[in-house]
Amino acid sequence: MALLSWTVSTLSLFLAPLLPAVNAKVYQSLDAFPSNITRSFDFIIAGSGTAGSVLAGRLSENNRFNVLLIEAGNDTASVIELIIPACATKRNDTEFNWRFMSEPMEGLNNRTIEIPRGRGLGGSSAINAMVYTRGSRGGEGRLYSLIYGEWTGATGGRDPTGQYDPKVHGYSGNTQTSLGWYEPSNFDLRVRRNGVLQSEEFPNVLDLNAGKPIVATWIQSTIGNGEQCSAARGYMTPSARERPNLTILLNTYITCVLPTPGDGSEKLDIRTVEIAPRYGVALDTHPFRYPEGLDSFEGAHPPMV
Ligand SMILES: Cc1cc2nc3c(=O)[nH]c(=O)nc-3n(C[C@H](O)[C@H](O)[C@H](O)COP(=O)(O)OP(=O)(O)OC[C@H]3O[C@@H](n4cnc5c(N)ncnc54)[C@H](O)[C@@H]3O)c2cc1C
Repeated sequence: MALLSWTVSTLSLFLAPLLPAVNAKVYQSLDAFPSNITRSFDFIIAGSGTAGSVLAGRLSENNRFNVLLIEAGNDTASVIELIIPACATKRNDTEFNWRFMSEPMEGLNNRTIEIPRGRGLGGSSAINAMVYTRGSRGGEGRLYSLIYGEWTGATGGRDPTGQYDPKVHGYSGNTQTSLGWYEPSNFDLRVRRNGVLQSEEFPNVLDLNAGKPIVATWIQSTIGNGEQCSAARGYMTPSARERPNLTILLNTYITCVLPTPGDGSEKLDIRTVEIAPRYGVALDTHPFRYPEGLDSFEGAHPPMV
């Protein structure tokens, strides 16, 4: 029942010829979204977290595609606490965290713990700890070889030579990456010089992103020019928002994805999403979630699921 009463609109995704281009739009809420919208979309993306922002950004680079990005939270572009890396510890009590709680866990003496997850453009990448890892070169290493940020050296303009390997970084990616602003402490330098952490399990290496990330080395961050580079800052840039084939709908929840009645074959054909102006029944985009029906994020932590 809750789903029915809260679902106010249904969008259909048609693989139809494109309509004439208009400028990209960022709608702040479902109320602002024109009910008589006649555009068709080639892709509707649920959630603008790390994955959603990258997908929307890359797909809309191709002007043959009309892309609609739907995000439950707000815009993060000019939120100062999400831009200044040193504010990382102050984000948990903001609207940009879903503030999930775990169930009581036996291994924790039945205590519950907070499970932060990002809510807003950029998703968790807007509130995370900014440690930059390209992953492992192991196995086929296909993802590793696809991921290149834009290496910006070291925040604060210090010389990071000797603390990273220039050969394993890209210099023109969307996500800005760097070494920390601080010079290594005497303790850090002694640890490295004396090989204190040298072991087969955690070898002492030059660069965290050389393909073997479980090592002892200098931390690299998704920070560029002193600012946190979330997926939204990297991909939902001012120029991306100018694209006529990209529409962003904020503060709106996808409550359901619906298969289109097919031709009797087993092929799954999903072309429709149901959306609602506030949280109702969640799509399974998070392993932890609010209890159904919670309609306010103000104040204390919500009850536990
Ligand atoms: C506090 C914290 C610190 C972290 N630190 C690091 C780190 O230092 N380095 C690192 O590599 N990783 C870190 N991570 C992990 C990393 O940020 C995540 O793994 C990554 O961002 C997940 O990306 P995603 O696209 O899968 O999901 P998310 O980025 O979480 O995106 C999901 C998006 O979907 C939206 N959404 C959810 N449900 C709906 C719905 N029904 N309708 C519409 N929108 C919806 C959400 O609001 C959110 O924007 C951290 C994560 C957290 C929370």
